[in-house]
Amino acid sequence: MFITRFAPSPTGRLHKGHAFSALTAWSAAKAAGGRFLLRIEDIDPTRCKPEYEAGILEDLTWLELDWDGPARRQSDHLGDYAAAVESLRARGLLYRCFRTRKDILNAIGDAPHGAMEAVRPGPHPAAEEARLLADGAPFAWRLSLDRAREALGETIWTGMSFTEEGAGPDGQTGVLPVDPTAGGDVVLARKDTGVAYHLAVTHDDALQGVTHVIRGQDLFAATSVQRLIQTLMGWPAPAYRHHRLLAGPDGRRYAKRDRSVTLAELRAGGLTPQALRAELGFSRGG
Ligand code: GLU
Repeated sequence: MFITRFAPSPTGRLHKGHAFSALTAWSAAKAAGGRFLLRIEDIDPTRCKPEYEAGILEDLTWLELDWDGPARRQSDHLGDYAAAVESLRARGLLYRCFRTRKDILNAIGDAPHGAMEAVRPGPHPAAEEARLLADGAPFAWRLSLDRAREALGETIWTGMSFTEEGAGPDGQTGVLPVDPTAGGDVVLARKDTGVAYHLAVTHDDALQGVTHVIRGQDLFAATSVQRLIQTLMGWPAPAYRHHRLLAGPDGRRYAKRDRSVTLAELRAGGLTPQALRAELGFSRGG
């Protein structure tokens, strides 16, 4: 059974790029006679808002996209993610990180905002960690690449791969090697919520039986990190289909932070779902 998903984060209203992504996944599910799931990735309490979640449902309904079963809201399942984090911790694969984002940025120089920072700050010295713990300082859990490598062994560590049925930003396609170091000692549990993106997304893809991850090329590099987590957790490897990113009239890609025109605004301006589907290349109902 072909199972794919659209997994937006409710950090703003959806724009045309989201519509393209949702239509791409939905059409693939329809073409394969499979299932299309909707997942609300709202684990970042500082950026996600209930009104944006309501906006996602409203916009997808307007686009005439239907999804199988109820949408899964990640913030309702923090206990599941905590259990996955705990299982990695119990295997000695994680270490506590009390550093602030600012500490990390200062240590590595100015990293471009939003880029995946392959930082590896390493565990704190034992005495320092004990003092911070005693002070009740908040900490994140980072994956130790050193411990992960030991746990998996060289053959697995150097042999991980994924199947790209779409294309990466440089045209990468087919069976591709994983770079397990791509995300550095990635944070798997944030200080505030006890979970982080790569852990939640791989947990849910496994739990929901997702066979095909269909998403934009902006997440291509995340695939290596996610394949590493899947391998450590014994979760199955989905196939990946990264799609191109839509560019706006100025040639730059649509992004929430650029305040791109939202579907809500386009709708208010009289755009019909049929016209938008046609513009995005989905005119024959997928
Ligand atoms: N929630 C992520 C986003 O909004 C997408 C996750 C994924 O498709 O893997 O960018």
